[in-house]
Amino acid sequence: MSLDGAYDDDNIFAKIIRGDMPAVKVWEDDQVLAFMDVFPQARGHVLVVSKTSKARNLLDAEAKTLGRLIGAVQKTSRAMSKALKPDGLVVTQFNGAPAGQTVFHLHFHIIPRWDGVPLGRHAEGMADVDDLKGLAAQIAAALEA
Ligand code: 5GP
Repeated sequence: MSLDGAYDDDNIFAKIIRGDMPAVKVWEDDQVLAFMDVFPQARGHVLVVSKTSKARNLLDAEAKTLGRLIGAVQKTSRAMSKALKPDGLVVTQFNGAPAGQTVFHLHFHIIPRWDGVPLGRHAEGMADVDDLKGLAAQIAAALEA
């Protein structure tokens, strides 16, 4: 899908937000949801989405949505840093299929990085759900109020 097009109410993240598909959640409020990427590029890879916006990408998004999302990305990154003690953190966001986007509901990736550990490939290799649950619990426990 290019940058143009209609929002698909049946995309995977819409289903997760509605509760029609399971996900390992880290935290959520009435506006945003942070959950574990099931095909992680590193242990601890988290996705952050808006629960209310139908923006497919950054270009579609309302300024208010972006404000809430980037605040949620920072909050989650701080907790991830405290909990998993990575040497670095990558925050990425893809717009359109040629740019690497595969799910067309605006989202940010937060990927912890450790010295000497190569980055896994994008959207490959399914994680163990119990491992994801443990990581989510560790990150959630480190969230600031
Ligand atoms: P994109 O390629 O659109 O930037 O990122 C989509 C992300 O969603 C990928 O990193 C992929 O691993 C992740 N993903 C795809 N399907 C699912 C799913 O069913 N559950 C979860 N938790 N993540 C998914």
